[in-house]
Amino acid sequence: MVNRLAGKVALITGAAGGIGLETTVLFLREGASVLMLDISEPALERAVAKVHELVPDLKSPQFVKTKKCDVSKESDVAAAMESLDEHGGLDIMFNNAGIMHAEDDDAISTSERIWDLTQAINVKGVWFGCKHGVLSMRRHKKAKGSIINTASMVALMGAATPQLAYTASKGAVLAFTRELAMVHARENIRFNSLCPGPLNTPLLQDWLGDDLQKRHRREVHFPMGRFGEAIEQANAVLFLASDESSFVTGQDFVVDGGMTKAYVTGE
Ligand code: NAD
Repeated sequence: MVNRLAGKVALITGAAGGIGLETTVLFLREGASVLMLDISEPALERAVAKVHELVPDLKSPQFVKTKKCDVSKESDVAAAMESLDEHGGLDIMFNNAGIMHAEDDDAISTSERIWDLTQAINVKGVWFGCKHGVLSMRRHKKAKGSIINTASMVALMGAATPQLAYTASKGAVLAFTRELAMVHARENIRFNSLCPGPLNTPLLQDWLGDDLQKRHRREVHFPMGRFGEAIEQANAVLFLASDESSFVTGQDFVVDGGMTKAYVTGE
């Protein structure tokens, strides 16, 4: 532990999933307290049990807490944020929750229901996190803050394997994060987007399943010949959350094994 986040209070959405859980563990090891939010209570219970196993030695006032929250509901997000008031308010917000629905497809086949659901979680949910994050930082007169929003590599590149609602949602996150960075720069609240490449987490792996053709369609484009790991995203999030990135704001922070720079790869 090198305490890069000593004394900081962080909120992580989608904290029971791949990137969220790894980031929770890393933040705690670096001295932050973490409120883990997720829509799934059973998943949160399993996740926090794992967290206690991996980081058994938290010393008061450091804490890890969980709360059920649907990020697409503003009242849920506001209530979660207000629960941090007794701990001095928010320093770091990681808007990480997101879905890629199995029925998300091209312009013809994607239903309006799937489109709206995807935008509600992936776009509106991130907006609510930003809004209530800024309000908490203002309420507690924070001298600085860091907000990290998860976009995706697909916000930067086109793909012939369509998931139109998801792609549109991540493009929106990328665009509004840039603007938020400018609007709040003089308050010393930094905003950056994380753009992961394809990962070895349930979100993508459950979707790919054992469909080898679907898998190969993607793997052939990996310069490093492999999917990314959640911890590799968590390490980038830690950098963006900590004061080590104090002059970094408004960036599309790409962690993709070089995929967005590839014309052809080694295979
Ligand atoms: P994951 O599916 O492992 O975790 C996502 C978590 O979000 C789950 O625990 C889920 O229960 C939770 N969640 C879903 N809807 C929610 C809601 N309405 N409110 C609160 N929580 C909700 O996924 P992951 O791979 O860890 O992805 C995290 C983020 O990274 C997502 O925004 C995803 O779009 C993005 N991303 C992932 C990949 C990838 O290949 N896995 C690539 C690029 C971007």
